[in-house]
Formats: sequence, C-alpha cells, structure tokens
Amino acid sequence: MAAGPLLHERRAPADVLLRDFHVLDPRCGIDARHDVRLGGGRIAGLGAPGTLEAGAGEELLDGRGRLMLLPAFFDPHVHLRTPGQEHKEDLQSGTRAAAAGGFAGVIAMPNTDPVLDSAPLLRSLRDAAAREARVPVGFLAAITRGLQGEQLTEMAELTEQGALGFTDDGRAVQSAGMLRKALQYQRLCGGVVALHEEDSTLSRGGSMHEGAISAELGLGGIPTISESTMVARDAAIAGYEDARVHFQHLSCAASVDAVAAAKARGWRVSSEVTPHHLLLTEEDVRGMDTRMKMFPPLAGASDREALIAGLRSGTIDCVASDHAPHARDEKEVPFEQAPMGTTGLETAFAALHTGLVLTGVLDLGLLVERMTAGAGLFELPASLIATGEPANLTLVDLDAEWVAGESGWVSRSENSCFAGRRFQGRVLLTVAAGAIVFRERALAAVALR
Ligand SMILES: [Zn+2]
Ligand SMILES: [Zn+2]
Repeated sequence: MAAGPLLHERRAPADVLLRDFHVLDPRCGIDARHDVRLGGGRIAGLGAPGTLEAGAGEELLDGRGRLMLLPAFFDPHVHLRTPGQEHKEDLQSGTRAAAAGGFAGVIAMPNTDPVLDSAPLLRSLRDAAAREARVPVGFLAAITRGLQGEQLTEMAELTEQGALGFTDDGRAVQSAGMLRKALQYQRLCGGVVALHEEDSTLSRGGSMHEGAISAELGLGGIPTISESTMVARDAAIAGYEDARVHFQHLSCAASVDAVAAAKARGWRVSSEVTPHHLLLTEEDVRGMDTRMKMFPPLAGASDREALIAGLRSGTIDCVASDHAPHARDEKEVPFEQAPMGTTGLETAFAALHTGLVLTGVLDLGLLVERMTAGAGLFELPASLIATGEPANLTLVDLDAEWVAGESGWVSRSENSCFAGRRFQGRVLLTVAAGAIVFRERALAAVALR
C-alpha cells in the first residue's frame, strides 16, 4: 500500500541554482535577495546573491533580483472529480492545474461518483495518486455514507487507510445529532472534520445570493443565514465536544462573526475563504454568466469586505480555491439549471495579487502566509524556505501581465469566473517534493535573458 499522508508520482529531483531571487517566506522571516540551491529533493543551500556557484549539470536560473521565490502554495479544498466524472477533471489534469497555479499540495474532496466513503475506494485512489498526481494529493473521506447524512462512514478504518479527515462537502450535515456523533468518533480517530455549511431548508430553490439583484433578475435567492446559522450551530457543537472542525468557503459577514466568536471562546475551529468570494460580489452575477454561479453564492459588498478583514485578522486562516470543474455543455444552460462551481487553481495567486495586494488591501507576505497555511490546518508541514527543508517552491514574476484563459487552461474544464480578466503576477515555475512540476513557457526568455 502507498504510504504517507500525501501521494504523487515520483519524478527526478531538480538540480537547480536559483541566482539572485527575491526570497519571501513569512514563516522563516526572510524578505531579501538570495541565491538558492536545490538538490536531492531539498533546499541544499541558501546564500547572499552571487555567493553560490552553479556546479556541473546544474541548471542556472537568474532572477536578477527581480523575480520572487515563495514557499509553494497549498490548497486544502479542490474537486478532482475522480472517480466518475473524468470528463470534468482527473487526478492528472487537476494536479497539473495545481502545479500551474504554484501549488505543491492539494486536498481532494470526496463528493465523487461513487462517493469516497469506503476504505477500498480510498486505497485505490491513493494508489492512483501515487502513479498519476503531478503534485502531492491528500484525501478527505465522507462523514456520512453516500453524503446522505444518515449513517456515519467507518471513520476509524478510513483514518487508518490515510484519510486526512472528513467532509460531506457539496452538502452540510443537516442533523445536529449526526454531526455530534461524527465529532465524538473523530476524537477517537483523529483527523479534521471540514464543514460545508448550508441549511437546505433555507437555501432550497436558490441559485444566487438573496438580495436586490436576485429580486431584479427574478432568480431564487439563497440567504446568508443559510450559511451563518449552521456555522454558529456547528461551532457550538464542536465547542461542546472539544472537537476540531474546519469551516469551508466562508462567504458572508455573519459567518466571519460566528467564527470569530468561536475562536474567542477557545473552540478549536478554523476557516477558509476562496479567491472568488474575496474578489467578486452579487454584482458580478448580473450578466447571468453561469461561471459566476457557485456555492456558496457570491454575496454583497459588505460581506466581501468582512471576508477580507477576516483574512487579514486571522479569523479566516487560509485561502482555498474550491476548484470545481464542470464541462462546457453542463454550464452552457440557463442560469437556474447550471451546476454550481468555478475552477480556481490556475488563477488563485494572480487574482489575489492583482485584486488585493496591488490595490494595497493586503500585504504580499500575508497573502503568501494565507496561501500556504492550509497544510498546517490538516496537520501537514508547511513549505519553508530554509536549508535542509524539502524543496516546495513557487517562482513568480510579479510584473508579468496576462489575461486569464488567453492561452487555454491546464485544467480539463474552463468554467473560470475570472476568464478574460487581466492579471498582474504570474507563476513561472513550481517545485513540489523536490521536482520541477511546472515550468511556464515564457520562463526561459524571462529568466535567462
Ligand atoms: Zn462546498
Ligand atoms: Zn467544494
């Protein structure tokens, strides 16, 4: 059986000298120009610019003090659609998209077909990841069988077989009693319980945020209380059971308040937010472009402000893409009938750099911290830029401008809510588990000129 919490195909370690890059790693307290040597799968050397010499057989990349070297990003929430929906994405295409976005690790959701709710399926997925995944992948298993909310999965056995935790993502656990039981089992077997929060008695029939625009468009609305009341309820259950829960894709101010209150009480909760909820609002749904239809729906401007403030303060611990690929024909239908979800791995960094860092809303170092913090929330080591650490790095050009999707997508699907937007900041190279897993075509011209 494959070992380790995260699995990927083995590739030859990179032998590279990165000369004169601006290294930024908030966890290691580095924000300065350095030479960095990669070898044997690790960061083999770190020195002042111009102090490390390229050896025989070593590739030289020159950052000329301008290109940035960051700890590789980690995404704790992606949909790789395998098994069962490989026409949207699979382990290979999804993890190649992750590599193109600067991610050196992702956690896949279990709402596949069949649902990942049994040990044999987890074993076969982990074996497939060890053969096919471009970057390391971990798996969350379902909390309830078939995501039906009625019977718990064999949580202890799934943990033993390598599940990082549990989620019914795509749905909430509607029954408080069922969630309580799951959290009692979790205390025995470990792992994190991640929660998609939605009271379906409030959200049913809705296809966008409930407000003035849904009324204007005549679309069924989803009120923010559908999420926030469940966040408050489940935080209280977690607090009562002293259990560890992670709230997925927060979308509104009231949910941020509920998480802040839970943290203030010392309850063991964490949360994530997506780039689209940080950058877009219900206004972007006006054109009824189905790429703007996702769950939870894009909310109001004040909700967006609260999410940004929550990310800045640490109430929200990390960024997660909730990369949710859908085939073109599935999205090319009237808005109400379209499936929910947007892709996000390839645009996450560029979108947030353009929308929040360049506008002075968020410091680049803080963005990097929040794009790497997801690993720690699932008890995995964060990428660090220090001698001897495993090489997990993202090389970016903060000046490069590009239009999202202009030269196609690495993901098998193209339902990006950011398609056609102009971004500044581009991932040029990704190193995951010591190997180069992505290299932007323009890199040779940019770095070696
Ligand atoms: Zn969800
Ligand atoms: Zn999701």
